[in-house]
Amino acid sequence: MSKQKMLQFVSVAKEMPEKREAEARAHDFNEIYAEYADTKAAEQAARCSQCGVPYCQAHCPLHNNIPDWLRLTAEGRLQEAYEMSQYTNTFPEICGRICPQDRLCEGNCVIEQSGHGTVTIGSVEKYITDTAWDEGWVQPIKPAEERPESVGIIGAGPGGLAAADRLRRAGIQVTVYDRHDRAGGLLTYGIPGFKLEKDVVMRRVAQLEEGGVEFVLNCNVGSDISFDAIRGKHDAVLIATGVYKARDLNGPGAGAAGIVAALDYLTASNRVSFGDDVPEYDSGELNANGKRVVVIGGGDTAMDCVRTAIRQGAESVKLLYRRDRANMPGSQREVQNAEEEGVEFVWLSAPQGFAGDPVEAVMVQKMRLGPPDATGRQTPEVIEGADYAEPADLVIKALGFEPEDLPTLWGEEALEVTRWGTIKAEFGTHATALPGVYAVGDIVRGASLVVWAIRDGREAADSILTYLAQPASVAAE
Ligand SMILES: Cc1cc2nc3c(=O)[nH]c(=O)nc-3n(C[C@H](O)[C@H](O)[C@H](O)COP(=O)(O)OP(=O)(O)OC[C@H]3O[C@@H](n4cnc5c(N)ncnc54)[C@H](O)[C@@H]3O)c2cc1C
Ligand code: SF4
Repeated sequence: MSKQKMLQFVSVAKEMPEKREAEARAHDFNEIYAEYADTKAAEQAARCSQCGVPYCQAHCPLHNNIPDWLRLTAEGRLQEAYEMSQYTNTFPEICGRICPQDRLCEGNCVIEQSGHGTVTIGSVEKYITDTAWDEGWVQPIKPAEERPESVGIIGAGPGGLAAADRLRRAGIQVTVYDRHDRAGGLLTYGIPGFKLEKDVVMRRVAQLEEGGVEFVLNCNVGSDISFDAIRGKHDAVLIATGVYKARDLNGPGAGAAGIVAALDYLTASNRVSFGDDVPEYDSGELNANGKRVVVIGGGDTAMDCVRTAIRQGAESVKLLYRRDRANMPGSQREVQNAEEEGVEFVWLSAPQGFAGDPVEAVMVQKMRLGPPDATGRQTPEVIEGADYAEPADLVIKALGFEPEDLPTLWGEEALEVTRWGTIKAEFGTHATALPGVYAVGDIVRGASLVVWAIRDGREAADSILTYLAQPASVAAE
């Protein structure tokens, strides 16, 4: 996307919030961008007991100074709260919206644990930085001095962008390569707009671009340019490519029309919200409107699919998961939101095949939980004779993602990977087996969270700065 087009989009998008809120209220959806007025933020912030044992901070991957910025918010000192918040987090308004707070900061709030309901830390964090953008407190990126060294970043998701921000502020020449036509990674094309509005992501991309970060989009490293060529162009390289190999389903009928991959479905929906022309959406192939939708999987991606399908006007939306509610990896808060929106959860159920082409039904096996496996998790077992057919016009596979085989795709066998195919990178520095090459985010951790990718990106940027400061002979070792 050209810079002009991106800025145009940001200005149009600024007019969107009121429309979105009105729509959400009309449909009774649980949207994250529902109003969060001054008084509510201050009221929530004032509930923090300043307990002196900030478990919330310890359980935030960025170790945000939560009690301090809550206190400043409660005192009405919002600009100071913003400055403190952005000191530890590159994209606080994004984390405030989409971190699974119930598993991180808020789940460890002392007030929550004493049974009085958590301080809504994420919403306050979002509010502080949204206010900073509105008030013009967010400063452009202006390095104190330009440095000659250049860093190539492969992947414009949160890991790559967090590193780009930190390196550029230090005056490094930064180029970010991405195979998509827009930057943002899963923030742009994975996570739906009802959780993370796209103008919020694009505004950050525009900030980086205005600050001198170069984006080379529609550029697939490994085919449009070789990994070797990128290494030759830059003094250091950061790999932040995420994980995109979708786990698939087997069984009779698995190739029928109407059975689609979660990320294709979510990407189409996100593209529509950008105003793109999406033929697969218009044809109904990737559109749930009027359909009986069955989503298979139990993680956050499955949750995003069911909630998107409901918003697209599906006739019915069911989620099949082979374990029970208590053993579901997705956020419990999201399960509750989805249930309130009309999604039906069909626990202890797994697909064994599909009828019809285009698909007409999922053949479902009922399961029970057996004894725990080596990891301590109860293994699902089939209940013989309890099969049934679940009618469906659209089946969405949301079974998780694995890393692509980068050493082979990039012809770089010396890039070491783990037995899961993720890139081996040193804890804390994020250095890989190749000199001057670092790796962060999902491609190292496996499918994880935005906040961890941001932390990795910040840490790797610091390691790269140290590496670039070394004499050339040491750096080459
Ligand atoms: C549907 C969905 C919903 C999610 N919801 C949440 C949520 O609510 N909260 C949360 O914290 N986390 C969520 N996650 C997880 C989160 O999005 C990821 O953990 C995070 O985006 C990882 O960041 P990353 O920078 O490592 O990779 P990504 O965001 O995946 O970005 C990687 C980028 O690299 C690019 N790329 C890959 N290969 C190449 C190549 N060869 N050449 C050029 N470019 C390349 C890709 O196009 C992409 O833009 C969700 C994930 C999914 C799939
Ligand atoms: S970054 Fe995430 S975990 Fe940390 S305070 Fe914000 S919402 Fe909580």
